[in-house]
Amino acid sequence: MKLVIASNNKNKIKEIKLILSDYFEEILSLSEAGINHETIEDGETFIANAEKKARELAEIGSCYAISDDSGLCVDALGGAPGVYSARFCGEHGNDEKNNDVLLEKMQGVKNRAAHYACAIALVAPKGYTLLTEDYLYGEILTERRGKGGFGYDPLFFIPELNKTLAEITLEEKNTLSHRAKALNNILNLINDSKKDICE
Ligand code: IMP
Repeated sequence: MKLVIASNNKNKIKEIKLILSDYFEEILSLSEAGINHETIEDGETFIANAEKKARELAEIGSCYAISDDSGLCVDALGGAPGVYSARFCGEHGNDEKNNDVLLEKMQGVKNRAAHYACAIALVAPKGYTLLTEDYLYGEILTERRGKGGFGYDPLFFIPELNKTLAEITLEEKNTLSHRAKALNNILNLINDSKKDICE
C-alpha cells in the first residue's frame, strides 16, 4: 500500500514516516509522488481542513492520503488564532510577526492558558476515512524563551517541564506534541479498522 502525505514539510514527513512505516510499503511526500496540488484551506475547523486536503489528494493520486492541520488556540482570545495560526499577522508563515501579534494581543491579560491542536485525516483510495484530533496544553509567556522549534514555540510554556517548546529538543517535542499524539491515535485507528481501510 502506498501512502502520500499532503505536505512537503520535512519535519512532518519525517515524523509521519517514523510512526507509520510498519503499515505502508511506501510513504511519499507530495513532491516525491510527483503531485503538484494545493488545497484551499477554507475550513472553519482543523478537522475540516485536514479532511479536505487528504480527500482531494486520495482522489487525485488514487492512493492512501494523509494530512494534518494544526494551530494554536488561546483561551483569552476566544480560541484565536486557531485555523488562522499560520497567518495571524496577515502574512502567511511569518513566525516572528505572528509572535509579535500574539504578544500584543496578550498584553495585560491575566489568563494565559492555551493549547496547540492537531487534526489528522487518513483517506483510503475508495474514500474510507479516519479522523482524529489531539492537543498539547500550556501557557503563553510575556516574552520569548529558547531558540528551537518553530511557530509559536518560544512563547508556548509547559509548566510541568518549566520550559517552552523552543527550549526542548525535537526528539523530546515528538514524545509529547499535539502532532505526535494525533499520529499515535491514527495508528490505533488503523489497527482497529484494518479490514475496512483495505477495502
Ligand atoms: P500547519 O498545520 O502546518 O498549517 O500549521 C499551522 C500553524 O500553526 C503554523 O504555521 C504555526 O504557526 C502553528 N503551529 C502548529 N503546530 C505548531 C507547533 O508544533 N509549534 C509551533 N507552532 C505550531
